[in-house]
Amino acid sequence: MQIGNTKLLSLIFCLVYSFCIYGDGGNNLPTIALITTGGTIAGSADPDGGGVVPVLTGEDLIRVIPSLGELAKIEVFEFCNVDSSKMLPETRRQMSVFVDNILKNPGIKGAVITHGTDTIAESAYFLDVTLQSKKPVVLVGAMRDASAISPDGPENIYNAVLQILSEGSEKFGVTVTLNQYIHAAKDVNKASTTNVQAFCSGKKGCLGYIAVGTVYKFRDVPRGKKIPLPKMLQEAVLLKTFSGDDGRFIRYAVDMGVKGIVVESLGSGNVNETVYEAIKYALNHDVIVMISTSISDEGVYPVYGGPGGGVELEKLGVIFTGKLSAVKARILLMLAVSQNLSREEIVQHLAC
Ligand code: ASP
Repeated sequence: MQIGNTKLLSLIFCLVYSFCIYGDGGNNLPTIALITTGGTIAGSADPDGGGVVPVLTGEDLIRVIPSLGELAKIEVFEFCNVDSSKMLPETRRQMSVFVDNILKNPGIKGAVITHGTDTIAESAYFLDVTLQSKKPVVLVGAMRDASAISPDGPENIYNAVLQILSEGSEKFGVTVTLNQYIHAAKDVNKASTTNVQAFCSGKKGCLGYIAVGTVYKFRDVPRGKKIPLPKMLQEAVLLKTFSGDDGRFIRYAVDMGVKGIVVESLGSGNVNETVYEAIKYALNHDVIVMISTSISDEGVYPVYGGPGGGVELEKLGVIFTGKLSAVKARILLMLAVSQNLSREEIVQHLAC
């Protein structure tokens, strides 16, 4: 088709005009990857009353934040779109490979990962321990879905981009950033089911705070030792003890061939005498046993004597998880048994 001179001139004029008005489409801005995995942040309520389900794409998520285009060029990568209760160990293993591959691109400054809040802390920890890239990685979620009266997802994404662009952002390791607070992957826990202020970092406190376009940093996190990503993850289980626990489930796990067990103990590392015997049974079968606590705001330290007391458990050879939560201790244990790490190597990981 021939194009007349007048039409050609007006086309050139339009191109020059839009370049002047909209700039070069963000070509001079840094590029940040937005990796989507689902969760409430991608959720919308089913109009037929079926509840909130993740349906939004990455493009949907950034379309509602036009000001993002003034900060960075966003490249969207869809990894999955699930409620985070559906995350399997293998999903996280593949996510780690996926994120590292994206960050290998020298043009990408960092990654924002959208994720369901129920298990965001677990995925963040998994990535923190396994990612090879030193670039900043920020996991974000939302407590209110996109169809809510005031969704919190868009601001959380915007703040995550601000965080990545801020000076020294790589010193934080992997973070979970919601409701303006920046949390270290190792310390963060979900502490509320509905409130937008849902995450806390226990006694250690958060790493920083984002307000009115500024990122305030309170402390850095030394990057911990990495565990090479195994080709396949071995199983480790988490068993919570309770009043009257007869240790049956620990023995069952051992008999099923599980290689590692995290026991979520009472208070400062205590279990009853029958559970103590079951832990002995596990250790005698070369199963690695870790002791964490059901107290969410504190660590676990051996204090009490007698069979089942923390001091006696430690003498048996169980590993105390310190401030690492039970669910994250299970992730560490899964990686450890998959890579045949020694007891000493696991203890070193817990210390850093
Ligand atoms: N059930 C949701 C999830 O974890 C909760 C959320 O994203 O806030 O995927």
